Amino acid sequence: MKTGLITSDTYQNHNTGNGHPEKIDRVTAVIDNFKKLDNKNLVWKKPSKFNKSLLEITHNSDYINFVERSFPKKGLSFLDGDTIISPGSKEATSDAVGSIIAAIDGVQNNEFKNAFCAVRPPGHHAEKNKAMGFCIYNNVAVGANYLIDKYKLNKIAIIDFDVHHGNGTQDIFYDNDKVLYISTHQYPFYPGSGTEQDKGKYNNIFNIPLPAGTTSVEYLNAYEFVLKKINQFKPEFILLSAGFDAHKDDPLAQFHLESKDFYDITKRTLELSKLYCNGKVVSILEGGYDLLALQESTKMHVDALIEFN
Ligand SMILES: [Zn+2]
Repeated sequence: MKTGLITSDTYQNHNTGNGHPEKIDRVTAVIDNFKKLDNKNLVWKKPSKFNKSLLEITHNSDYINFVERSFPKKGLSFLDGDTIISPGSKEATSDAVGSIIAAIDGVQNNEFKNAFCAVRPPGHHAEKNKAMGFCIYNNVAVGANYLIDKYKLNKIAIIDFDVHHGNGTQDIFYDNDKVLYISTHQYPFYPGSGTEQDKGKYNNIFNIPLPAGTTSVEYLNAYEFVLKKINQFKPEFILLSAGFDAHKDDPLAQFHLESKDFYDITKRTLELSKLYCNGKVVSILEGGYDLLALQESTKMHVDALIEFN
């Protein structure tokens, strides 16, 4: 079967200002590369439109109203110190959420086996009622709640291999036994959360903090713990918070992963997904701030999605 690639052009209108690392060129670099490669096993699909009630499962309605009121008519505004929005951010933010909905529906309806969403803004730092760290709505969390609400699934695993801890995803699912959240991340580091002691109300959160300077071998060894937890949980669906800022060339963090490591991480995860959930995996872009590293790493990631689907 094929792999879905969900994207739209609206990310180009989410302007974060000059010199901001979470810039328009990130997704352009990824998308232009996939257009050039023209892999016939990729099915291109647009994000879905969705009802606001879907967001309200994940975020407080006061917060959603606050975000909607905050999109400026012109210029830029700040949702937090480093989360900047422009007039076009409204549509981009909506398409980032809509991409994971389109991806999940595509997998559930057998349009494709698995999918990657190439969108921005990212989502995993966004909490129930707080924008943070370039993130406005928590895209992957909306996806997990959509699987529970629409498809009545009871076991969703979210694997977050972004180099930063997904404090938002942890916050949203802290007391939800239907969602297993596992994060590998640099620690101590931004956003400051993500210790091994944070386990969630139902022992459903697993944090794997790793020091600055973590190498490929050390990372892949640590990832064995992620695989062990997937084996124990036996998920019905796997969502990936796919950040590529653990790459050695990334300017925002200090891990030393190579582009090909993202192939290995993806392959190992997909092998388990076949055992438990018929290979149902949806991945969504989080961080990754060196354009060439991001381009190579997303290709490696999607190569594995295609090869092992
Ligand atoms: Zn990150």
